[in-house]
Amino acid sequence: MRGRIHSIETLGALDGPGLRTVVFFQGCPLRCKYCHNPDSWDFAGGVEMDSEAIMAKLRRSRPYYGDLGGVTFSGGEPCAQPGFLGELVELCKREGIHTALDTSGGCWSAQIEDIAQACDLILLDIKAGTKQQFEWLTDHDSFHNLLHWLDFLRKTNHSAWIRQVVGIGLNDTEEDKQNLMRLLDGIQPEKIEFLPYHDKGRGKWQALGLDYVADQFFKVK
Ligand code: SF4
Repeated sequence: MRGRIHSIETLGALDGPGLRTVVFFQGCPLRCKYCHNPDSWDFAGGVEMDSEAIMAKLRRSRPYYGDLGGVTFSGGEPCAQPGFLGELVELCKREGIHTALDTSGGCWSAQIEDIAQACDLILLDIKAGTKQQFEWLTDHDSFHNLLHWLDFLRKTNHSAWIRQVVGIGLNDTEEDKQNLMRLLDGIQPEKIEFLPYHDKGRGKWQALGLDYVADQFFKVK
């Protein structure tokens, strides 16, 4: 199967355990105000690749994976191309390559649930703790899909890391913390990572002719 890919990074050490190949899918339905990869939004952008070409790259990096590493499917939003993602996860499983799925939680379906179940690790990025904040930050009405992801983790106790970008003016109040904790009630993630907001995406927004709106709302520490 063929799908659209933004880029592939080797020896990634930030998106999951060990050293990993990070496959960034092209296309994202969300429009996060602080997105540092707005060039990954357009579903017609990036390059078309077939699954075998990606598997060949993963095999080449395999000596670096060790006991912990593997592949992380990120984006963009990998779950927005579920057929392609599902095939890659299946191929990796057959070859014993550890799979992590890095998702915003903005997409959900029975097919995505099966893919999530098949992955070794879920990296769930919780954009905001309330529907209102989520919709404001992402300009997208998909908080209900995030709730499906959280129900899935609650129900299955699937291996997961929870991640959230935190920033001044974004979600730095006690109330924000309580809202996040409420969402995580009944979930036992292996890790909760708070990632500091940064403005490294500014240049890409400008190159795309977009106003870097984050400047109006958030501050870098
Ligand atoms: S989910 Fe990720 S890629 Fe999509 S807009 Fe938000 S930060 Fe950007």
